[in-house]
Amino acid sequence: MREALLDDIRARILICVKCPLHRSRTHAVPGEGSCDAEVMFVGEAPGQHEDAQGRPFVGAAGQLLNRMLEGIGLRRADVFITNVVKCRPQGNRDPNPGEVETCTEEYLFAQIALIEPKIVCALGRFAMGVLIDPHLSITAAHGTVYRKSGILHLPIIHPAAVLHSERNRLLLEHDFQKLKAVLKGEA
Ligand code: URA
Repeated sequence: MREALLDDIRARILICVKCPLHRSRTHAVPGEGSCDAEVMFVGEAPGQHEDAQGRPFVGAAGQLLNRMLEGIGLRRADVFITNVVKCRPQGNRDPNPGEVETCTEEYLFAQIALIEPKIVCALGRFAMGVLIDPHLSITAAHGTVYRKSGILHLPIIHPAAVLHSERNRLLLEHDFQKLKAVLKGEA
């Protein structure tokens, strides 16, 4: 049942024309993973590689995400990975408020409600702002668990931030250790 409903959301995303982002996309990127996932990861928006392949986090940031998952004993297939908006904004600009509202109301919140994960990890400032609180600073808030609408949320340093500055790697590893502890019921 859950799988069929998620497939239905996926099918609607693939043909979505509800905001202007559809005009410049190659592929919409609905997200992928287990419909019974305990953990959901939500990034900002598909990048160039994701737009080309129709899959989330397949570029360099995605490779790093895979390694971080392995580091705490998880595989991509165990979790569900998606983005706030499902189509790539041209030039990698931030999605605008209208695009975010349309895409989250139509798709992201429905995906979260269906999967009912134990915890939603917001990857980076943008996803944290949409999912948790736009007034939070990612530097201060990453690694802290928030409860929103009855669901645990964890802001995590965006893997792309490590690609920009190696100094962020330890912070990202720390965030994944926090996630591991939450999943084991230790935090
Ligand atoms: N960055 C994101 O936020 N999402 C992706 O899917 C890829 C890179």
